Amino acid sequence: MKEEYLKIKDAALTALAEVTDAEALEAVRVKYLGRKGIFTSLMRNLGRASKEERPALGKMANEIKAELDAVYEAGKLRIGGAGNGGAGKGAAQFDLTLPGRAIPPGHQHPVTRVMTEVCSIFERLGFTVAEGPDIESDFYNFEGLNIPKHHPARDMHDTFYVSDNVLLRTHTSPMQVRTMEKQSPPLRMIAPGKVYRCDSDITHTPMFHQVEGFLVDRQVSFADLKGILSIFITKIFSKDTAIRFRPSYFPFTEPSAEVDISCVICKGRGCRVCKQTGWLEILGAGLIDPEVFKKVGYDPDEYSGFAFGIGIERIAMLKYGITDIRLFYENDLRFLKQF
Ligand SMILES: [Zn+2]
Repeated sequence: MKEEYLKIKDAALTALAEVTDAEALEAVRVKYLGRKGIFTSLMRNLGRASKEERPALGKMANEIKAELDAVYEAGKLRIGGAGNGGAGKGAAQFDLTLPGRAIPPGHQHPVTRVMTEVCSIFERLGFTVAEGPDIESDFYNFEGLNIPKHHPARDMHDTFYVSDNVLLRTHTSPMQVRTMEKQSPPLRMIAPGKVYRCDSDITHTPMFHQVEGFLVDRQVSFADLKGILSIFITKIFSKDTAIRFRPSYFPFTEPSAEVDISCVICKGRGCRVCKQTGWLEILGAGLIDPEVFKKVGYDPDEYSGFAFGIGIERIAMLKYGITDIRLFYENDLRFLKQF
């Protein structure tokens, strides 16, 4: 029987090699491998072999079957027909009706989202957007903002110095000085961007994002500042968010204030995030110090203005209930996919 198997195998292989079109290929398949084909009936007769011979024969038959199937499939690809119609000679077979592989859509980083939202609120209030360099001179980052050398306020900044007079900006406020140097009032501008401080824990990262805003005109008062910030806070959080000003100190504003909002987590009842006070510190602001105006050649008797600085990560953490700022920069997809 073994010889018979091999003979049929050779014949089938020769026939398969000789076919040139789909029809002939199909005929060969039917003749040898079809339900009533030569090889198929031979396998069916396996039972007639002796008990000792049967396992070896069965194994051989299976191997031949697999080989013939493979050669048949290869032939199908070679002549590109066999029932699937259409594809030309030698073309591989593609099922164009199969669905494609889905590419997961990307989306914005939570910090980018909040940054865009903050900027668009102020743009709707008539503020223009200006961006400045990340690497600043000591003058724009400190001197021009009324923070001379050896001023104790420099200690609050944990500055990365590049050289004695060049540094990574510690806030986006330098854009105030840069803009006022070039343009005369009225001014209404925000300056979004990255800022750098040598600090790292669950609420600080060495690089973070700020939006500096300022407005200069005749007779600008604290009431204008409060009005603009109230609109901003109710837009970015919710309509029922309360706001309060606490006296504070910044060298470039006088008077200065820290702005608190009613806790967005517990709605003012007191929780761990607001340390049971019901209030959250959200930004710093104030009326621009006359000394800053003098440095850029504005007359402080004629003009007044306000300025404020918003930490974007801080807003994003409160908006989304994130407790560790470092999560923003670990690039963990499990975290990022939630937004
Ligand atoms: Zn709270």
